[in-house]
Amino acid sequence: MKVLSVASEVFPLIKTGGLADVAGALPAALEPFDIAVTTFVPGYRQVMKQLKKVTELHAFPDLFGAPARLLSASRRGLDLIVLDCPDFFDRVGGPYGDDAGQDWPDNWRRFAAFSFAAAECAQGRAGNYQADLIHVHDWQAAMTPAYLRYAMTDPLPSVITIHNIAFQGQFAASVFGDLRMPPTAMNMDGIEYYGGVGFLKAGLQAASAITTVSPTYAQEIRLPEFGMGLEGLINARAANVHGIVNGIDTEVWNPRTDPHLRSNYKPSSLKRRRENRVAVEERFGIDHDDGLLLSVVSRLSWQKGLDILAEMLDEIVALGCKVVVLGSGDSQIEQAFVTATQRHPGRIGIVTGYDEPLSHLMQGGADALLVPSRFEPCGLTQLYGLRYGCVPIVARTGGLSDTVVDHNHAAAVSGVATGFQFSPVTPETLVHAVRRAIAAYGDDKTWSAMQRRGMRTDVSWTRSAEGYSRLFNSLLQDRT
Ligand code: ADP
Repeated sequence: MKVLSVASEVFPLIKTGGLADVAGALPAALEPFDIAVTTFVPGYRQVMKQLKKVTELHAFPDLFGAPARLLSASRRGLDLIVLDCPDFFDRVGGPYGDDAGQDWPDNWRRFAAFSFAAAECAQGRAGNYQADLIHVHDWQAAMTPAYLRYAMTDPLPSVITIHNIAFQGQFAASVFGDLRMPPTAMNMDGIEYYGGVGFLKAGLQAASAITTVSPTYAQEIRLPEFGMGLEGLINARAANVHGIVNGIDTEVWNPRTDPHLRSNYKPSSLKRRRENRVAVEERFGIDHDDGLLLSVVSRLSWQKGLDILAEMLDEIVALGCKVVVLGSGDSQIEQAFVTATQRHPGRIGIVTGYDEPLSHLMQGGADALLVPSRFEPCGLTQLYGLRYGCVPIVARTGGLSDTVVDHNHAAAVSGVATGFQFSPVTPETLVHAVRRAIAAYGDDKTWSAMQRRGMRTDVSWTRSAEGYSRLFNSLLQDRT
């Protein structure tokens, strides 16, 4: 089966969040199921620089006002089709905005063009590639099934994966005329969304099936608190909505071999984590004592609940803990952490920016990982935490509640706990969870058993890939 995976980011070429990890890892995980994935990505400046040998598949003289080419390439085991369109993608900054965090004003055009080109390619109308099924990710690629729907009488089967329903690609109705869609598409059953156009909405209407990245989130987005305006549509399509929890790349994230760790280790040599802990403390200017070392690796945003953590830092430090934060995003949240480091030198440290090697070291050295998200479609950091024996302390929501087993009385007695959950997400429940973690940390046997259990939890892609494979096969069967 040939699947065209359409994604606006893919690890290791370009990454701003979990979507890149998923798009990067799923192709290899699907290979054993006889599914050959080709990944369709934008030719951002950062991506083009990493390509070595490329073959031109097709040229678009005018793709939404710009010349563009489709290039076939491969990189670290990924088969790629890259949309080389300098007018849209050769820019200084990130995939979606400039270095100041301002969205590119023509994002609607950039990602409509991207989705249009992917739809042409999938149908075999742009080069010699042709897909059996398309798998698109998030709003940036969501228009692909919509283009197919209006271009083909019997559209290719398509799956859309929602990594975060908060990002919807909503634009003014005035752009509709430039989207190369038939006038009939501008209605409730098509692309129209609260008077404007909605890219994610159009994809959710058009795709054969919808997946999201955990079973709990698949249920949550049926509710107004989580559906963010799309709950009606999700409910209407509930029979076609599936929750498949993400895995992680267990080669890249392997404490036995990870080159970013000062000391590699396995479940039976947990003591070696100590050297990594010291390395983390050195990097953040933190005291070397026995206090519980809590870490955060995250976008600093309201979604992630880090404003709540910032509010409780004095109390958490008073409990004897140390806190290290790696993240970037909301400047107010960032500032709250920076001022806390000044109040508590040696107890709180922050590194702002994006630092992949440091994120590995923190997982391999900190005692626990805090994830106080208000909502979390799947979450990857808690999966890395499990794999690295960095015990996750998480909000009970979305994928966090599906992947961490709370250390409550029953779980402790039966020996299945892998971390701590709290809900609702409030300053008080967060601190209460930290207190519970401190108590468990105080008992060496309990703590190391929990670490080892986490490390032995299957967080690989195998089970998730099975879920995608089953879904893809059922859609192909429906078509024949
Ligand atoms: P989201 O996709 O909502 O940001 P996830 O937990 O699904 O959250 O994925 C976040 C990914 O980005 C993880 O791989 C995490 O390690 C990584 N990450 C987040 N912030 C940073 C950072 N500042 N430096 C390095 N890696 C980061």
